Amino acid sequence: MNLTIFGVGYVGLVTGVCLAELGNDVVCVDTDARKIATLQRGDVPIHEPGLKELMAGNCHAGRLAFSTDLAKGVAHGEVLFIAVGTPSTDDGGTDMAQVFGVARAIAAHMDAFKVIVNKSTVPVGSGEAVHEAIAEVLAQRLWHAAPAPGFAVVSNPEFLKEGSAIDDFMRPDRIIVGVGDSPEERRAGALMRELYRPFSHGHERLMCMDRRSAEFTKYAANAMLAVRISFMNEMANLADRLGVDIEPVRVGMGADPRIGDSFLYPGIGYGGSCFPKDVAALRHMGLGMGLPLRVLQAAAQVNDGQRRLLVDKLAQRLGNDFAGRRFALWGLAFKPNTDDMREAPSRVLIRELLARGAALQVFDPVAMLEARRCLAEDMRDHPEWLDRIHYAESPLGAAHGADALLIATEWQEFCSPNFEALRMALKRPLVVDGRNLYEPRAMRTLGFDYLAVGRNTVD
Ligand code: NAD
Repeated sequence: MNLTIFGVGYVGLVTGVCLAELGNDVVCVDTDARKIATLQRGDVPIHEPGLKELMAGNCHAGRLAFSTDLAKGVAHGEVLFIAVGTPSTDDGGTDMAQVFGVARAIAAHMDAFKVIVNKSTVPVGSGEAVHEAIAEVLAQRLWHAAPAPGFAVVSNPEFLKEGSAIDDFMRPDRIIVGVGDSPEERRAGALMRELYRPFSHGHERLMCMDRRSAEFTKYAANAMLAVRISFMNEMANLADRLGVDIEPVRVGMGADPRIGDSFLYPGIGYGGSCFPKDVAALRHMGLGMGLPLRVLQAAAQVNDGQRRLLVDKLAQRLGNDFAGRRFALWGLAFKPNTDDMREAPSRVLIRELLARGAALQVFDPVAMLEARRCLAEDMRDHPEWLDRIHYAESPLGAAHGADALLIATEWQEFCSPNFEALRMALKRPLVVDGRNLYEPRAMRTLGFDYLAVGRNTVD
């Protein structure tokens, strides 16, 4: 099929590359000319395992191209994907400007039947709104002899996870397609079934539902995951106070098939471009309907507190004033295998530590450049604080001479460091681990003062 993807971010690029890999002819369009130039050179502007190689293969095979030309994109695809950003507004709502920008561009240029697929995460009812926006622009255009072309708007929310996006896209748990039953929409539904047929591998993954349900499914799923994380973080905080180790508790809970063992790991809170934004958007939708979503409010509140947990743990050992202290920080990205710093818990941690006078020696395997950009943004009101951040070249380099090591991201390369060398590098053998990477007893035997999340290591 001829496909066009509008918006070449994490979702759009992975979608375009993976659909090309299946043999489709894909054009990816973005308004960011620098990003398109980077992609046209064969470079990938984000870190996502396996993406660069898969992209190169498909560009080479002539199935994948990048462009800033919206009109060309509209002309090319029989299916047009909208995969642009839907950031939060100040009140927790959803800024739909990018989505409507693409919708209007499509309407301005289309001259044949098009299926418009919304992959961006959008509030319930956005499908109708996009449909209306397109119909409005089409009605303003002059159609000499022929009538305006037909179109259908489909909801197809994306469930990939950064860090394993290719695998998630190629081996989906489910593909949600929300579509109505007008003749155009039935035609669109059939096209979507055909497009996604190769992903089913003999087991139907595609779930068809109405558009509003599809839009809602995405939010409800992310909100459920966020609640699970916050629930587990509260359990871990209580475990710390009760003198209980959360680890066997987690395993015991997860053994119940009604609970399951994924997403039960305590830590320093969720981040990234989706959970905080989607929880806020769902709460905003609830308020709009006169229904405050109290569970989600609590989940968000717990998460805000959890991002400061490592600072509190450090203060237990060193007191509240960190002036003159130097801390190592391992991990900046909001999770491993990505360079995405959006809403990363490390950003809250870094700001808090700098505000209390500390100097930092930070290291992340891939997010250093992105971190520099984001931290400069975060510290716009105190640019002089940035001088107290040193970007180290290795984990051990970051640890050198530090009063404590803090861990914010569970990168694999942090899991089994040379503990002896680490202890020697640190000025004080204090490790405050926000991702529970190590065994508390083993760490104590190795001579570390080790604080983790819910691991009964707080005095
Ligand atoms: P992103 O911010 O990384 O990328 C969005 C891209 O859209 C940018 O490159 C921007 O330049 C481009 N853009 C903006 N306006 C445009 C226009 N008019 N025409 C063409 N391009 C335009 O966003 P993302 O992280 O890929 O997320 C996209 C959507 O998918 C969001 O709604 C998000 O909530 C959702 N989502 C994201 C993830 C994830 O892990 N990142 C997972 C599932 C769903």
